Amino acid sequence: MLLVQKYGGSSVADVERLRKVAARVARARAEGHGVVVVVSAMGNTTNELLALARSVTQAPGRRELDMLISVGERVSMALLAMALQELGVAARSFTGSQSGIITDTSHANARVVEVRPDRVREALARGEVAIVAGFQGVSREREVTTLGRGGSDTTAVVLAAALRADECEICSDVDGVYSADPRAVPAAVKLASMTLDEALALAQNGAKVLYDEAVAWAHREGITLRASATFAEAPGTRIHPGAAPARVLAIAADTQLAHGPLSLLDTLPTPCVRAAGPDGLLLDRRNLHADLVGLVPAATVAVVGARVGADPTLLRRVLRAAGADATRWRAAQDAVVFTIDPARAAGLERSLHEALLETSPA
Ligand code: ADP
Ligand code: ASP
Ligand code: MG
Repeated sequence: MLLVQKYGGSSVADVERLRKVAARVARARAEGHGVVVVVSAMGNTTNELLALARSVTQAPGRRELDMLISVGERVSMALLAMALQELGVAARSFTGSQSGIITDTSHANARVVEVRPDRVREALARGEVAIVAGFQGVSREREVTTLGRGGSDTTAVVLAAALRADECEICSDVDGVYSADPRAVPAAVKLASMTLDEALALAQNGAKVLYDEAVAWAHREGITLRASATFAEAPGTRIHPGAAPARVLAIAADTQLAHGPLSLLDTLPTPCVRAAGPDGLLLDRRNLHADLVGLVPAATVAVVGARVGADPTLLRRVLRAAGADATRWRAAQDAVVFTIDPARAAGLERSLHEALLETSPA
């Protein structure tokens, strides 16, 4: 079997954890599988690099920002290759560019347009573990690009698709996808499986555990994903193609948003518009990296599940559960999204979870 395994920042936060990841990879290799490993930057590295840029200039250019923040993943890939070699496992690291991850030119939030992983294939053919730096690619103009915060997930999925891997496993500090962020909602429960449609709605509405672009790519290519824990044996969550019966599955909250005037459409550096209407824009602030005037912090809380926004009975139930908070909302196929003051998002997240997922339907 050919496995793609992605390890997030907390899984490689220090050398001790990096060694444990190397041992986990070595186990898969010892079982006879081909293994491609995608790694994120160690711990908080990407934030530290961004802060470093801000200490030099308040308005860093996006090309140079990409040069800087792509470095974090390169540190991890080289150290993990060394750790595997220490265990006697043949391994070789590759940057995004060397792995043939070709993107558009939207610096700091690039989209993958093509994948040509020739060097990764050659390494696998030699029996080596191929270690790829996540979160980065190269544009057709031969510039280094990055894929947006959380974008190492995308690297894993696009490689799994291009290499026709048998499994694409996203490993992190949680042992799967829960019915809400377990850090914010202690009563959240792990979900054994969900459809790619539902995972996409969750990711698009701020559930950090999976990056939306990665899920969108998996959806297009019909790839099954597994979200699992790096350092635990629990079975994780299977995210598969196909349809589910109409249901409420999970709650997602996103506090990294802002309202802005429509006029910003002319100056926005990236495709970060979540919604637009006569009242203005709803923007994702994660990949802006600029201090735009006229932004007001905003948040959304979404109820996610197959047809939750299209099935009248479910929609009524959700709106009833939101009560007085159901003033600004929109229904999509697989999500009902409430826009709310960021200070009240956590409360709404918990109360919707309690009303819709901790009690049986009325
Ligand atoms: P990594 O660095 O490994 O990519 P992330 O920090 O991006 O990991 O994603 C894992 C985090 O996602 C968890 O620590 C958890 O707090 C958060 N999270 C948000 N929503 C969910 C959810 N529905 N299920 C599980 N984790 C979630
Ligand atoms: N290191 C990048 C980030 O912090 C990419 C990733 O972790 O997926 O956003
Ligand atoms: Mg992540």
